[in-house]
Amino acid sequence: MGIIVQKFGGTSVADPQKIHNVANAVIKEKENGNDVVVVVSAMGHTTDHLIKLAKEVTNTPDSREMDMLLSTGEQVSIALLAMAIQAHGHKAVSMNGQQVGIVTECIHSKARIVDIKTEKLQKKLQEGNIIVVAGFQGVTPDGEITTLGRGGSDTSAVAIAAALKADRCDIYTDVEGVYATDPRIVPNIQKTDVISYEEMLELASLGANVLHPRSVETAKQFNVPLRVRSSFKLDNLGTLIIGVENMEIYKPVAGVAADSSQVRILLSNLPDIPGTAAKLFGALAKNNISVDMIIQSLANNGTNSIAFTVSEDDLEDAIATLEAEKEITQSAQISTDKDIAKVSIVGAGMVDRPGIAADMFRSLADKGINIKMISTSEIKISCLVDKDKANDSIKALCKEFGLETTEMAVVKGDLPNV
Ligand code: ADP
Ligand code: ASP
Ligand code: MG
Repeated sequence: MGIIVQKFGGTSVADPQKIHNVANAVIKEKENGNDVVVVVSAMGHTTDHLIKLAKEVTNTPDSREMDMLLSTGEQVSIALLAMAIQAHGHKAVSMNGQQVGIVTECIHSKARIVDIKTEKLQKKLQEGNIIVVAGFQGVTPDGEITTLGRGGSDTSAVAIAAALKADRCDIYTDVEGVYATDPRIVPNIQKTDVISYEEMLELASLGANVLHPRSVETAKQFNVPLRVRSSFKLDNLGTLIIGVENMEIYKPVAGVAADSSQVRILLSNLPDIPGTAAKLFGALAKNNISVDMIIQSLANNGTNSIAFTVSEDDLEDAIATLEAEKEITQSAQISTDKDIAKVSIVGAGMVDRPGIAADMFRSLADKGINIKMISTSEIKISCLVDKDKANDSIKALCKEFGLETTEMAVVKGDLPNV
């Protein structure tokens, strides 16, 4: 007998019938003799609807109130799932983030979990309950409700699994596992049976939204055995995510991802003196604005240009932050480009294979796709392209690196009766 943490995403709990099907899947795990904690997301597109609602009230909703609003979505689904499990004759109790004691930093809309209290969870499990926990939310030490960022229920599940030293964390979703790219873009894409934490972390961070990046980071840190599997084919084992040291790497590229939620900021006519970049990026960091690709170039007239990318959500704050650094930016020009996407290839097997970057650039060039910025790290290469070229880039790269297959992935499937 072990402890299993399961997580079901929004599409898996989108209506009462699906909630009953999830209840059956959870009960099956319990009847296998395991203690079960199940983490759920808000039903269907609830979170999107709540965001839209807030925007209809004001264009600039307060981030504390946004967290207050968005956390209600998960509270609906935990209560309904607990009721469904009870209706099937099993003991179940729902708990929100505060009741569990999922303690986070006080950064609204993108808080990180700092601690999970396990006492109440252990007690409820010992009493024979299946525990249904609200994903995506936590509470600060001062009692403020926070959320973890879009897709954050995956991180709630992995963090609970780590805290409880669970035997496994299974992320059930609407596809059969992790594919080499989003199967909605390339339906004849290979499914991955095993992928390393390192590769999955890069793919998730670079836009493969099948897993929330911090869920992978947490799984890696605490060595949580993690699976992504289908909520409509429960016996299918999906994709296992493990440490790279346990893997045989034979392919240079494991996956391709794209992120079109970034914007490029260009600062030109900056003073070419020590400390310019340090001050600007220091100010952005202080305001919790993550910066991604950065290019600095020196102009002929002895001034500097710096181009970098930030998340679209952070654009207004970033511009305000830069403008506040008057000493540096008062004579600079600031321009922005929202029409961009970052396309990346990821693979632990590309280490020490210098030809991979050239192959990537050539395959984009063959399709007439212009590269605006490039960044690399040990196991990834990213290119910034025009937004409307993102899908063509992904298709070209999947072909280039042999990631297609003859079978079609089943996408956006429904949860059948189990
Ligand atoms: P959930 O609601 O279960 O959390 P998400 O929509 O967050 O589901 O994540 C599942 C979706 O992620 C899939 O429907 C798929 O279209 C998309 N996706 C993007 N990249 C990948 C990938 N590399 N492998 C599998 N799915 C991917
Ligand atoms: N409900 C949240 C979202 O839609 C969290 C999640 O689903 O993981 O982003
Ligand atoms: Mg998700």
